[in-house]
Amino acid sequence: MAEEYSCDDAIEELKKLLSEKSELETVAAAKIKQLTADLEKAVNPVEKMKTGFAYFKTEKYEKNPELYEELSKGQSPKFMVFACSDSRVCPSHILDFQPGEAFMVRNIANMVPQYDKIKYSGVGAAIEYAVVHLKVENILVMGHSCCGGIKGLMAIADDGTKHSDFIEDWVSICASAKAKVKAEFGELDISELCTHCEQEAVNVSLGNLLTYPFVKAAVLNKSLSLKGGYYNFLKGSFDFWCLDHGLSPPLTV
Ligand SMILES: [Zn+2]
Repeated sequence: MAEEYSCDDAIEELKKLLSEKSELETVAAAKIKQLTADLEKAVNPVEKMKTGFAYFKTEKYEKNPELYEELSKGQSPKFMVFACSDSRVCPSHILDFQPGEAFMVRNIANMVPQYDKIKYSGVGAAIEYAVVHLKVENILVMGHSCCGGIKGLMAIADDGTKHSDFIEDWVSICASAKAKVKAEFGELDISELCTHCEQEAVNVSLGNLLTYPFVKAAVLNKSLSLKGGYYNFLKGSFDFWCLDHGLSPPLTV
């Protein structure tokens, strides 16, 4: 908050300076005006969004009218993607998905819970729509490095004591990944355990996808393929693997 306040102060001072010093050189005045506009954009969320949409409209929407005309009629994405809510891991940026190409669910630690009509109806509805109605051909569950959700899962006390309203219950969806990693790599330090768990949790989610009858049916008739992915933003790498016929070794790109 303190930072925002000082930015507002700076804007006010610059505005005052502009109005008082009418004799300022034109170039200097223009520079201050630009600086003021930039500062306003930085602190004003509505301006930030307006500027963002204006950029999208002129640089993307208006430059590709055929695509947006086609998309106005409907969508038929080939991918469904589960990605973390983390602001650093947007699949459209990382995998260059264009509008209409990927149907997405983003949640804490990109987890797919087991089929449960009461507890997880939101996730279930998205999977049902993607598989039954859109007939996506691939579901990608995409984990990532330095995942706060996985860190939270690894930090849950062994006696099960929880300190949050939602987070710990949610990430416990992948408790079996935590147990496996601790059993196999118990001697490693916590950050290495987290890295293993980030990948193992993807496998748990891929397995959980098969608890949805329509997913299992589509996988069995080979109209749907389940894929795991791991984006490491420290290394700038992306690993893919498949769950079609057992886990295949990861392919790094
Ligand atoms: Zn995450």
